[in-house]
Amino acid sequence: MGAGGPFKNIPPNDSSAIRAQNCKAVDRLLYENNGLTKNEISQRLSLSMPTVAGILQEMEEDGILEYYQEKDVATGRPPLKYLLSSKTHVCVAVLIRDDYFKTLICDVHGRSLFSASFSLPYENNGEYWEEVCSLISKSMDSCELELKKSIGVNVILSCQVDPIEHLIIDRQHGEKFSYFNINQMETMLGAPVYLNNFYESAAFELGSTVAPQGNCIYLHISDVIQSVCMAGGRIFRTWENELGTLGHITLVPLGKKCRCGKFGCAQAYCSTDVFKEVFGEDIAGFLEDRSNTPQKQMFWHEYIFLLSILISNQYNIFKMPVYIGGELAKYLSGEDIELLNTMVCNATGSPYCLYLAGDSEELAIYGAIKILLHNFK
Ligand SMILES: [Zn+2]
Repeated sequence: MGAGGPFKNIPPNDSSAIRAQNCKAVDRLLYENNGLTKNEISQRLSLSMPTVAGILQEMEEDGILEYYQEKDVATGRPPLKYLLSSKTHVCVAVLIRDDYFKTLICDVHGRSLFSASFSLPYENNGEYWEEVCSLISKSMDSCELELKKSIGVNVILSCQVDPIEHLIIDRQHGEKFSYFNINQMETMLGAPVYLNNFYESAAFELGSTVAPQGNCIYLHISDVIQSVCMAGGRIFRTWENELGTLGHITLVPLGKKCRCGKFGCAQAYCSTDVFKEVFGEDIAGFLEDRSNTPQKQMFWHEYIFLLSILISNQYNIFKMPVYIGGELAKYLSGEDIELLNTMVCNATGSPYCLYLAGDSEELAIYGAIKILLHNFK
């Protein structure tokens, strides 16, 4: 008895749902396997050959399928092997910064197809997001890629977000992104839009590439201090709604007043703003002539010492290697890292555990692609 049973003229109510599910199954199977024959697809998914043939034909008409003829077959006509087109399921990452935004487009295997930085000062209004969408669309066009065939667009903001609900939940900076509207963006782009946090994306990249077993702490030190924990390659949200508050945990009890109003916050001692506050220079200017200035030498030693306490505290909580990123990472010399590591090892009794993370924007944008591919699997 065929599908539909004795009343084969009456289609079952959910036939389109079943069909959609089968299509998705074929899609996933081809995503995971580079080249399968019709027969192999049919066997692996327990679908009939005509069903598979129908789905493949539809996918081919949609332009998301490629095939090649297998060589070295002993007898008979070699069967066709099907695979997903490299122009399908591309991932788009969009990193929003104050003066520009960056776009990275990768194929389904994570290989870069396009990357660009657009000089567009951030503005909290609808026109800004329209312009971003238009530039994303143009970038896709220039690669002859279609947004509607992509996995989606991952927007990375440096404020606290809820990636499941696609919401901005930042109490401090939320207002700054009040014009960001995920539904409007999806309408403008005609593709799914996702939302993730800058620091979490950077940590995700570290966790899925260099960190052993995907375990690490990403410590971002710039004008703000952020920390993200990766456990087993997954983002581990210890503070759930408190992401970004690491800068405001007490580092020096009864210490100097922080801009948040509390006393002795890590922010007041270890952010890169302290050089401006004390010496009126950014970190680059401060470090330039520090070896000739005893006052600066002393300040730097004190800075490194307090930073080692912050890192030791992080290590003691999670017992994972710590990767330093952000503005500070650009200026720490090999000597500074060695010194910091010695201090942290002495304070925690741990083996060598401190590393430089590399460029945080690069990490975050590649992490954004990895998150899309990870969720798609
Ligand atoms: Zn504070």
